[in-house]
Amino acid sequence: MNTLFADSRPGRTGALPRRPELRAADMLPPSLLRKDRPRLPELSELDVVRHFTRLSQRNYSVDANCYPLGSCTMKYNPKFMEYVASLPGFTALHPLMAQLRGAGHYTQGALQILWEMERLLCEITGMAAFTLQPMAGAHGEFTGAMLIAAYHRDRGNKKNKILIPDSAHGTNPASATLAGFEVVNIPSRDGILDPDDLEAALDDTVAALMMTCPNTLGLFENRLPALVEKLRRVDALLYYDGANMNAILGKMRVGDAGFDVVHLNLHKTFGTPHGGGGPGAGPVGVSARLEPFLPVSRVARQQDGSFCLDYDHPKSIGYIAPFYGNFAVVLKAYAYILRLGREGLRRASEYAVLNANYLRKRLETILDMPCQRLCMHEFVASAPQGLRALDIAKAMLDGQVHAPTVYFPLIVPECLMFEPTETESKQTLDALAELLDEIVRRGQASPDDLAHAPYHTPVRRLDETLAARSMVLTEDMA
Ligand SMILES: *Cc1c(COP(=O)(O)O)cnc(C)c1O
Repeated sequence: MNTLFADSRPGRTGALPRRPELRAADMLPPSLLRKDRPRLPELSELDVVRHFTRLSQRNYSVDANCYPLGSCTMKYNPKFMEYVASLPGFTALHPLMAQLRGAGHYTQGALQILWEMERLLCEITGMAAFTLQPMAGAHGEFTGAMLIAAYHRDRGNKKNKILIPDSAHGTNPASATLAGFEVVNIPSRDGILDPDDLEAALDDTVAALMMTCPNTLGLFENRLPALVEKLRRVDALLYYDGANMNAILGKMRVGDAGFDVVHLNLHKTFGTPHGGGGPGAGPVGVSARLEPFLPVSRVARQQDGSFCLDYDHPKSIGYIAPFYGNFAVVLKAYAYILRLGREGLRRASEYAVLNANYLRKRLETILDMPCQRLCMHEFVASAPQGLRALDIAKAMLDGQVHAPTVYFPLIVPECLMFEPTETESKQTLDALAELLDEIVRRGQASPDDLAHAPYHTPVRRLDETLAARSMVLTEDMA
């Protein structure tokens, strides 16, 4: 496929004539006018439409097919959320209008949504307060780790360690390290954290336990009360990685279970198509004892019922993001929560867990299953003896299906991690199982055949290291 520059033809223009009244030379001082013509491609409108339509068809998306990428919740997002986020009352809003004399009232609706969203998330999770500012799950984890540090500093506690089970998401140790903690890894037993193993790692220097629940094996940590009790004894806090809250909505509240900090991934659980690193939002909820440390600004309701940004929190950890965080993502999640309502959110979780267990059972005779147990929203499998997870994943691309997450979590050999999500139908899951059956049979008959897949994608196997080390990001226009 050519680039727009390669398709450029001198003098070719769009369908509409230029507006003669709009001449840059009449509007800008001569010092700001460029001397040379910009080297932009010259194309017709049709050239451009075809180019981008073809390009979009080469992208893989949930709108095109199933996307069982574990731990990512690549689910279908209803289009009405895009409609809500594109309303001009939101898109034409600038956050500084709040400070502009006579324009403050324009931001009241946006502030009210943020204020209500915080309360909705408190209701869903059982936490005392939320900040909506973090712009990704990992950013939420980092914020949470900073809150834990601020809490202990305030109490004069000398604590420098965070315990993290080996079944936690990979971002957990990275975030805790970035916040200045020493990370201590605890092995899981039968896929979950055992209170005795926690006990063995526990002492007065432990600031917190950071756990992903359901963990990366798709298992619910069902020993929570015993873990909470042990941590309380040494004044250690409990961090809940709730990125995959779509497994437990309406079933269990993190705050009721005794956790002090939780982050949610709005872009997974509550919609917003994401991928390639964005866009996202990772709000952080805290128990009452951590509320004074939340980042500023915070949205407050004044006595007359109007809303404002409140900076008067002397113990706050300070700024972690400009203005309101990733407002459009928060807005879409707010619309999603109101549209589904209490019953709808609970049902979404039930379908997420049902779909994962259905697919797990369907694949039981096709792949190896390291955990023969009910899973939550996702599960892990291993490539059968003699086959590689990578080869199976590559062969799936020829079947027009996105691959599952591979080689993660690290504690499972030749790992394939599936998350079908709540939005796929039984027919789609059956088709996915049939595709995998066919691929595994093919691989067992001829491993070499699988080792060279995919055969029908625009590019085949890439040297990923080389691609990352020597990226070519520009078109040579010479
Ligand atoms: C996706 C995910 C994260 C990281 O979220 P980002 O928005 O990608 O930073 C953290 N923990 C878990 C369990 C996740 O699934």
